[in-house]
Amino acid sequence: METVPPITPKPPDMSQEYAIPRERMVARLRDYYRIQDPRVLEAMRAVPRHFFVPEALRGRAYGDHALPISANQTISQPYIVARMTELLELDENSRVLEIGAGSGYQTAVLSKVAAQLYAIERIADLARQAQSRIRQLGIYNATVKCFDGTLGWAANAPYDGILVAAGGPNIPAPLVAQLKVGGKLVVPVGAARESQQLVRVIKTEKGSREEDHGPCAFVPLIGQHGWKEDK
Ligand code: SAH
Repeated sequence: METVPPITPKPPDMSQEYAIPRERMVARLRDYYRIQDPRVLEAMRAVPRHFFVPEALRGRAYGDHALPISANQTISQPYIVARMTELLELDENSRVLEIGAGSGYQTAVLSKVAAQLYAIERIADLARQAQSRIRQLGIYNATVKCFDGTLGWAANAPYDGILVAAGGPNIPAPLVAQLKVGGKLVVPVGAARESQQLVRVIKTEKGSREEDHGPCAFVPLIGQHGWKEDK
């Protein structure tokens, strides 16, 4: 009797799906939003954003907007992801901390432009899912853990860049402390929960310098150096 070799189903090649909407998104980032760093544009082209949104919303994954994910949280608008990544001015040697991994999309984008990525998410289910998506895409230089990111992650410090994807009332001091001299922290800061200014902090020999990069709207940063609890 002949033996039939088992058929192993191949996992779908995510990079081929939605290639046209993804290319359109990259063109919009470059031509309309003026994202200039070619490594950031390449990362936005490489990461399959639709893999990070709920299945029912996949068709809208490449639109010019944020989308809901589970646990009442959101995946940030493509422009915000690209802009924050660009503001960090990373290179292939950079060590980066991300706070608020959410879906893991920003994590995946950062993993393409940096050497090593440490990501924190306070909601355990989201952290688990983000880590699993990252692995499924074959990304091995990023780790997602569940705890309060406003404390930073001292064990891997100092960092070349820190990105905070949720808005708090002020700049969490531990994050500035965990930056290298010359390192950059990009963080939304606002006195009200609903809206913030995007702030870039650059650590200097003597202290730090702050720049304002315009208005933005993120979900609240909740923790010891953020807002106190969910509303
Ligand atoms: N960059 C994400 C955006 C997620 S929204 C994406 O592209 O999908 C912001 C996330 O920050 C939420 O998932 C929220 O749970 C998380 N968050 C809020 N406060 C936090 C904290 N103190 N530490 C870690 N994560 C936090």
